[in-house]
Amino acid sequence: MKKILAIVLVLMMVLSLAACGGSSKKEALTMATNAYFPPYEYYENDKIVGIDAEVAAVIAEKLGMELVIEDMDFGSIIAAVQTGKCSMGMAGMTVTEERLESVNFSDVYAVGVQVVIVNEGSDIASLDDLAGKKIGVQENTTGDIYATDDFGDDFIERYPKGSDAVLALTQGKIDAVIIDNEPAKNFVASNDGLVILDTEYAIEDYAIAVAKDNEDLLKDINKALAELTADGTLDKIVAKYIPAE
Ligand code: GLN
Repeated sequence: MKKILAIVLVLMMVLSLAACGGSSKKEALTMATNAYFPPYEYYENDKIVGIDAEVAAVIAEKLGMELVIEDMDFGSIIAAVQTGKCSMGMAGMTVTEERLESVNFSDVYAVGVQVVIVNEGSDIASLDDLAGKKIGVQENTTGDIYATDDFGDDFIERYPKGSDAVLALTQGKIDAVIIDNEPAKNFVASNDGLVILDTEYAIEDYAIAVAKDNEDLLKDINKALAELTADGTLDKIVAKYIPAE
C-alpha cells in the first residue's frame, strides 16, 4: 500500500512539473489587439509586428514577463481587458471618456489623428463635403463614433478591419474612409488612386488599457513607459516604423 502511495506521489510530482514547464517559465503579459492596423500592429508572415508589438515586448521584458499577443476584433478589446481575459489592450487605442468608464488607461505614448481618405479626383475636398456621402469606418473605433455623431448612422458603413473599409473605397462602394493617420498613410501607399485630405478630423491620444482593478500593472506599465521614453527606446521603435518625412 505504501509503495503504491509512493508511486502515485512521484507521478504527481512529475506531472505537475510538466504542467508548469519547470521553474523558469515567466508569467504571461497578454496583449489584446486588432492586428490590421499598420504601423502599430500588423502581420508580417504569421508574426504580429509594429510599434505597439515592440513597445509591449520592451514593457514585458522590463516586467520580467513573457509577451503573448491576442488578435481579436477591435470592439472586443475593452471587454477582454475588463474581464481579465487579457492583461492589457494595446491597439493604437484612443483614450475616450466612454472607454474610461470601463477600463483605466496608461500614460499617453503616441498621438493619433483621424483623417479622411478619398479616391483621387473625388468631389470631396474638405470635411464639409462629407455630408450626405457614404463614409466607411472601422467598427467601434473613434472614427466610427465621431462620424456617426456628425454625419448620421444612415451614412456610415462599418467594417471589421480598416483594410476592408479601404478596399470598399477602391471598389467605389463608399465615398470616403475615416481612419487614423498612420494606418491611412500605409493604406494609401499600398493602394493606387487614393489620397488623404489635408484637413484633420480629430486629434487624439493613444494609451494602453488596463483593468480597473489592476492598479499594480498600471503602475508597472507607466514606469516602463517612462523609462523607455526617457532612454530613447520609444523614439527608436517609432522611427523604425514611421520614416521621417
Ligand atoms: N484610434 C482609434 C480608436 O481607438 C482606432 C484604433 C484601431 O483601429 N486600432 O478607436
